[in-house]
Amino acid sequence: MIEIKKNDIYTLEITDVSSDGNGVGNIGGMAIFVPGTVDGDTISARIVKVQKRYAYARAEEIITRSPKRQTPPCTVFGKCGGCSFMHIKYDHQLEIKRKIINNAVKRIGGISHEVDEMIGAENPYRYRNKMIFPVGKEQGKIVCGFYRERSHDIIPLTDCLLGNEFNSALIEAVKEYMEKFRIEPYDENAHSGTVRRIFTRVGVNSGEVMAVVSANADSLPHENKLCDMIKKALPNIKSIILNINKSKTNLVLGDANRTLFGCDKISDSLLGAEYEISPHSFYQINHTQTEKLYGKALEYAEIGKGDRVMDIYCGIGTISLSAAGLAAKVVGVEIVPAAVRDAKKNAVANGIENAEFYCADAEELVPKLIDRGEKPNMVILDPPRKGSDEKTLGAIVSANPERIVYVSCNPATLARDLAFLENKGYKLQKLCGVDMFPNTSHVECVSKLVCE
Ligand code: SAH
Repeated sequence: MIEIKKNDIYTLEITDVSSDGNGVGNIGGMAIFVPGTVDGDTISARIVKVQKRYAYARAEEIITRSPKRQTPPCTVFGKCGGCSFMHIKYDHQLEIKRKIINNAVKRIGGISHEVDEMIGAENPYRYRNKMIFPVGKEQGKIVCGFYRERSHDIIPLTDCLLGNEFNSALIEAVKEYMEKFRIEPYDENAHSGTVRRIFTRVGVNSGEVMAVVSANADSLPHENKLCDMIKKALPNIKSIILNINKSKTNLVLGDANRTLFGCDKISDSLLGAEYEISPHSFYQINHTQTEKLYGKALEYAEIGKGDRVMDIYCGIGTISLSAAGLAAKVVGVEIVPAAVRDAKKNAVANGIENAEFYCADAEELVPKLIDRGEKPNMVILDPPRKGSDEKTLGAIVSANPERIVYVSCNPATLARDLAFLENKGYKLQKLCGVDMFPNTSHVECVSKLVCE
């Protein structure tokens, strides 16, 4: 084997893209990961870090451009930690994601079923309905943008191409207000200064916009002037909120909010149900693709009037409420109390009477519910990145549901859990990838298992 050392330079062909978004080449049997490259590139690679079986390199020069490459449309591509796939043509991004899912299901799950369908986005830009911009100071000027990868240096950028166009005008207004009234940004080292972040949300169907200024203070000087300046920039703004965040941590939002102008919530509709969104509410950030994802989950679920559905890891009840209209009964389980409160409120607001929500750790509660005789014949689960666990999955299996629909944001943990369910007599029947986060390496999956 060739001995590879830091700072060595090689000509390297990139032949693949890894599940975390790095181009992959090979030197003498050793995998070399290179950010910002794609299969088909030939590059001059400088080795930056060597591990036992693989190494990381930086592309010093792209000698031959892959036909799958595009010029990233963002001015801070490669500097901000955000879009690791933006240099790849969108069709190929989808193919890479398909491969990532197939590889995980095969290698981790030992299952030969491949992705049946990849659902891409019509517009891979401007899809985020929520953005968070940290505020700081550079050379005496207020700056606002994104953190450099693995750091808290701010790269100035007010118009991220993943977010809505209105963000730029809004941020310029807050910056102007801060300059005019000499309001200092928060300094996390000294725990001094005031404005920490600007946080924005938009209801994609309602068009309602919320601006949240998070500050290390109970109030801001000249709050009415801040509102006037924001309203001038965005005349239709629905809600301006001060979030009080005096903590010494990196928490994005503190617990307390005070409405400075307009409503304390915005509303939006998702799959026909209405939702109220406050600064703290969990709400999927890609509205269009979420509707496709949950639409696919409901299609796979084939819920009929007699079905008793359990929706585990239900969040604010987005899937439960859509399922409730079709089923006899839906039981939702979720660990975050605020999300369960929202789910219950959302059920009432949408006139849904056959959905019950429980706040608990799925691992503890699902076995108890099933022991107590709650026997779902259809189960939906949508766990966080770490996936589900054997207690929850074991309890699901013991209830013997006819169908299980597993929604996942992590193909690796999905594959592990699918293997568990296949070992207990279920069979993976359908598998779909949904691109909720174009230009990043993340991908969501919906899978359907049936009892054999
Ligand atoms: N389907 C939901 C959210 C899915 S995200 C929606 O679309 O709104 C995963 C959810 O699982 C989160 O809401 C998270 O709070 C919840 N969660 C994480 N660990 C959990 C656990 N151990 N038990 C129950 N819920 C959990």
